[in-house]
Amino acid sequence: MALLADYHTHTKYSRNHHGKGTVEQNVRVAYEKGLRQIAITDHGFNQVMFGIRRKDIPSLRRDIEDAKERYPIDVLLGVEANIISSQGDIDINEDDYKDLDILLCGFHRLVKSTSKRERISFINKNVFCELFHHTSKKQRERNTNAYINAMRKYDIDVITHLNHACKVDVEKVARVAKETNTLIELNGKRLGMSDEEILTCYKLGCKFVIDSDAHTPDRVGDCHLGLQAALRLRLPDSCIVNYNNIPTFKKEKRKKRS
Ligand SMILES: [Zn+2]
Ligand SMILES: [Zn+2]
Repeated sequence: MALLADYHTHTKYSRNHHGKGTVEQNVRVAYEKGLRQIAITDHGFNQVMFGIRRKDIPSLRRDIEDAKERYPIDVLLGVEANIISSQGDIDINEDDYKDLDILLCGFHRLVKSTSKRERISFINKNVFCELFHHTSKKQRERNTNAYINAMRKYDIDVITHLNHACKVDVEKVARVAKETNTLIELNGKRLGMSDEEILTCYKLGCKFVIDSDAHTPDRVGDCHLGLQAALRLRLPDSCIVNYNNIPTFKKEKRKKRS
């Protein structure tokens, strides 16, 4: 037994060749690697270059249903939403909820924000922070509040690559992740958090999910960075929801709101 699911994979629905494979290819690799469940989670609607378009969701659903008929593996439709303001707005409406089996959320550059001011002070500012490897205390607080508000405002299942490209106070974010039952991702490609920060999440009682963040089919199920961290830090299996286990997500809760 090992990882049974990969809940963070991209396909061609992440536009402009950002995601390389088709739904069928991702699903086939997941099946061949022995996974029992996979989620297709392309970039959120406000990502200017790569985001999936709302009008493509029905076609994505059809591709998923087709793949499910061909391979005996469960496939979830999701999206990797973007945090688009320091108030914690994300690029998902309650109308979108009905379409989502799983909702991931993270910070990404090149996203349409709620206002010009937010674009400058939140999105672009963080791009500069990453570029110069320095995030001021004020910016860190702003980012921390963005994550906290997002988790309280929306039924988010997973926070992706926390502390990558948007530095936060991990302890404060982790407390609200625990309170709101939001999973913290250990990303297979870029961890973002230090070992100490991962342990802080663990000690506060957060649960983790280990995902690949594959942008090509061959990387589906390749979660080595996250797995190595879990082994190195001796995290118990029970705090990793997709290790020897298939978790449930907030789909029903979202349905009631949509
Ligand atoms: Zn991402
Ligand atoms: Zn991603």
